[in-house]
Amino acid sequence: MTLLGKTAIVTGAAAGIGRHIALRLAQDGAQLLVADIQDGAATVDAVRAVGGQADYLKCDVSEESAVQAFAAQVRERTDHVDILVNNAGINGEARLILDMPLAAWERTLRVNLTGTMLVVREIAPLMISGGGGRIVNVASNVARRGLPFRGDYVASKWALLGMTQTLALELVGHGIRVNAVCPGPVEGDRIEQVMEMHALAEGRTLADVRRAWSEETPMKRLIEPDEVAAVVRFLVGDESSAMTGQALNVTGGFIMT
Ligand code: NAD
Repeated sequence: MTLLGKTAIVTGAAAGIGRHIALRLAQDGAQLLVADIQDGAATVDAVRAVGGQADYLKCDVSEESAVQAFAAQVRERTDHVDILVNNAGINGEARLILDMPLAAWERTLRVNLTGTMLVVREIAPLMISGGGGRIVNVASNVARRGLPFRGDYVASKWALLGMTQTLALELVGHGIRVNAVCPGPVEGDRIEQVMEMHALAEGRTLADVRRAWSEETPMKRLIEPDEVAAVVRFLVGDESSAMTGQALNVTGGFIMT
């Protein structure tokens, strides 16, 4: 199934999972807008190298005025957006909730939760005016469980699923489907940092944390970013036409509810 002629925005696509999602959608024909706080040139180059089309637009999803300026730039380029993947997110710090500075808590929720709301609020009208669209929010396996030392991140991802269900109900009449993916630990630079953070906070070695995270997964391994991108591709395609308000686990069997 092709995405030819579709315009897709992926936030946080300058690196990591977002770059893999952008590449996957571009390979299937979508015209990509890479929205990120950091330079997205490497992703744009990677998309063009596989024959796809992409442009980078700077956007700090956590700042209302920046998201509005970003949306204005999008409107200058196109009158319709078909696909929005809200992938931009931050780890937060490794802190017990009882030791959590308010500023750290608020920063994580601001980027991961409020940022998604702002982007949807500014971009969904470009879907509504064109008769519909697909939104995918990148949540996490910790949107399904608690995890010590990560209270801000966990809360932001649980809330993202609540917002996904609410948006699905609010936008269904406009022909917009809204779903989420919940990945387990994904191979890449970021997961190394996250495991180091846990090792330090829990008094374990990095090797112990990596072994434990693989062992507790039925498939005994971490997730590849392309495996997340493939599920996002499914959710933005016609193959998932009867699905909205859903959250798909991509966790190697670790989460089954
Ligand atoms: P990453 O740090 O490699 O990439 C995140 C991207 O988001 C970066 O390009 C960064 O510049 C961008 N970003 C950060 N703050 C931003 C802001 N305010 N505005 C715009 N862009 C911003 O992380 P990743 O591992 O690729 O994670 C991507 C998403 O997947 C995140 O939402 C993360 O919570 C989620 N996730 C990751 C894992 C994992 O193991 N890596 C697991 C589950 C869920």
